[in-house]
Amino acid sequence: MKRILLFGSTGSIGRNVLDIVAKNPDKFRVELLSCHSNVRLLIEQAKTFKVSAVHLSDHAAAETVRQALPASTRIFVGNAAFAETIREIDADLVVNAIVGAAGLEVSYHALAAGKTLALANKESLVAGGELLKQVCRQTGAQIIPIDSEHSAVFQCLQAGRRNEVEKIILTASGGPFRNRPKETFGSITIEEALKHPNWSMGAKITIDSATMINKCLEVIEAHFLFDVTPEQIDVVIHPESVIHSMVQFCDGSVIAQLSPPDMRLPIAYALQFPERLATNLPRADFGQLRSLHFEPVDNERFPAIALAYKVLRMGGLAALTLNAANEIAVAAFLAGRIKLPDIYAVVDKMVIESITISKPSLTELLEADGQVRKRTEELIASETFGWWKG
Ligand code: NAD
Ligand code: MG
Repeated sequence: MKRILLFGSTGSIGRNVLDIVAKNPDKFRVELLSCHSNVRLLIEQAKTFKVSAVHLSDHAAAETVRQALPASTRIFVGNAAFAETIREIDADLVVNAIVGAAGLEVSYHALAAGKTLALANKESLVAGGELLKQVCRQTGAQIIPIDSEHSAVFQCLQAGRRNEVEKIILTASGGPFRNRPKETFGSITIEEALKHPNWSMGAKITIDSATMINKCLEVIEAHFLFDVTPEQIDVVIHPESVIHSMVQFCDGSVIAQLSPPDMRLPIAYALQFPERLATNLPRADFGQLRSLHFEPVDNERFPAIALAYKVLRMGGLAALTLNAANEIAVAAFLAGRIKLPDIYAVVDKMVIESITISKPSLTELLEADGQVRKRTEELIASETFGWWKG
C-alpha cells in the first residue's frame, strides 16, 4: 500500500490522480489533499477518501474546512506549512499537481525530506531546476514525471543506458492555432485559446499550449529531469498526440511511447513505478488511426520554443524569470487585459532583464520570483505597454 500526499487535488491533474486511487483502493491510500480556493470540492474529496490531513492556502478557508470535517483531520495552512506538512504526515510518495511556481516549495520540501516526487508541476523545475537537482543529489530522492511527454521519455529510457542516449524528441500537438495565420493572432479570443484540440486541462496550461510556451517549459523541464544538453532536445509537431515523446539512442534506434491522450496513463505510471498498473484506459486502435502526422516547428509563428534554448544558454534566473513573467502575462490575457501575442513580448522583455544569482537558495528563488511578478505587472500596467507594435 503506497501512502500519498496529493498537493493540488482539486485541479485537473489532482482529480485524475484521485480517479486512479479510487479504482485501486488496495494499492494506494491518500493521506493528504490540498487546494488553493475550491474548498467545497476539497471537503467532498476529503470525506470520500477519509484523509488524515488537508493543506489550505488561507485561514478563512481553514475555518470552513474545520467545521465540515471530523475533528481528527489535521489542517495545515499557508506556504510556510508545506515543509511541516510533508515532515509530519507520513507518506511514500508526494504528488505535486499545483499549478505555477507556487508548487516550487512543495517540490523542494518533498525532495529535501527524501520523498519520491511524482511531478506534474513543471513550473517548479523551470524556476528552480538547479536547486531541485542539487537536493536530489544530496538526499537521493527521485522525481517521477507526470507530464505526458516526460513520462514518455522516462518510459523510453528504460530501453537503453543513459550514456547511450543521443537525443530526446518531445512531441507537441501544436495547440488550437497550429494552422492559424500569424496576422490574426491579435484577434484570438479567450474562448478560442481555452479550447485545446486533444486535452482537457486547467486554464493556465491550456493557454500555455495555445502560445506553445508549454512546450518551451517542457524543453527546460526535460533538460533538468534527464540531464541532457539543450542541443540533445528536439521538438516535433505531432497533431494527433498519440506519440507522447521519443528517445533516440546512439545506434540510431528511436523508441516511442504511444497511447490515446489521457493523463491518467502517465499518472498511473508515476504512482505505481517501477511496476506498471493494469488499467482499463482506452487502447490505441491502429486500424482506426491509420496514420500519424509530423511537422517541423514553425518558429516564426511560435517563437516560444526558441525561447527555451535561449534561457538555457543564458542560465542564471532566466528560466525562473520566463516562468514568472509568463504566469502574470497569462493571467492578464485571461482577464482580457492583453492580447495573446503580447504574452511573448512581455516574457521576452522580462527575460532580457533577468539576473543571475550563483547557487540560489529556496528563499532567494522565491524572492526573485516575487520581484519578477511585480515588475511584470508594472510593465503590463505601464503607459508604454504595446511599444513593440510600433
Ligand atoms: P488546475 O488549474 O486544474 O489545478 C491547479 C491546482 O493547484 C488546484 O488544485 C489549485 O487549488 C492548486 N493551486 C493553484 N494555485 C495554488 C497556490 N498558489 N497554492 C497552492 N495550490 C494552488 O491545473 P492542472 O491543469 O491540473 O495543472 C497542474 C499542473 O500540472 C501544472 O503545472 C500543469 O502545467 C501540469 N500539467 C497538467 C496537465 C493536464 O492535463 N492538466 C498535463 C501536464 C502537466
Ligand atoms: Mg505535457
